[in-house]
Amino acid sequence: MQIDANKCVGCGQCRPFCTMGVINFTRSGKGTKVHCYVDEDECVDCGICYRAQVCPVDALHQPLYGWPRSIRGTFSNPLAEHKETRVPGRGTEEMKTNDITNRFKRGFAGMAAEMGRPGTGARMREAEKVFMALAKLGVEFEPNNPLTGLLKDKTTGEMNPEVLNEKVLSAIIEMIIPLDKVIPVLETMERVAEEINTVFSIDLVARTDEDFSVPTARIMNENDKWFSINGKINLGLGHMNVKGAGVK
Ligand code: SF4
Ligand code: SF4
Repeated sequence: MQIDANKCVGCGQCRPFCTMGVINFTRSGKGTKVHCYVDEDECVDCGICYRAQVCPVDALHQPLYGWPRSIRGTFSNPLAEHKETRVPGRGTEEMKTNDITNRFKRGFAGMAAEMGRPGTGARMREAEKVFMALAKLGVEFEPNNPLTGLLKDKTTGEMNPEVLNEKVLSAIIEMIIPLDKVIPVLETMERVAEEINTVFSIDLVARTDEDFSVPTARIMNENDKWFSINGKINLGLGHMNVKGAGVK
């Protein structure tokens, strides 16, 4: 995002809408004119300031950035769609649509690291650290996830070097793992959390057992790990796929 210094009257109305807090005041014209500018290196191109439509002089301007800068907008702007997955936003289809997609079958868990949040964002080099730590465990990353598409080598977790400095509001590393890998993956994420320069939260999802107990909750309790349990079910009008979900 950019601000046209010639148009901007420095009213500051766009500043509270910035998800990264990167719209700042400055002076120009021998220090007489106060106006705002965007710190473009820290901006994630989410477009919120622009869509807020608060600028009285139409000074905000979203340039058409080329590769690799273009990935900021596709990950951070909820109205943008990833060309590869045709899904808007940060990851693949939501975990809560599992009764339709049947991605997570019995005996397996879905795990994800949600990198970055408003106010912090995440550089791709931080995501790469998590990818590389997980790749050492032989984890298979979700192929339809747009972040996976930026990997140079899925077996080592190395990302395309061109994107490493790019910053996004949030992006999700997703994987499907056997239940016996939940704790090793979790403990790897706990270790790598000490080494990265942003925040992430961890998602863990599994289909309930036949008796409606939650296998991942059992694993977490047995290993004395803290978690917050949520039921996420989208009933919708889709085709139910539960029949094929059972693992012998
Ligand atoms: S595009 Fe987003 S991050 Fe960039 S200045 Fe606007 S609100 Fe802030
Ligand atoms: S709302 Fe418009 S005029 Fe006011 S500070 Fe932001 S860009 Fe400048």
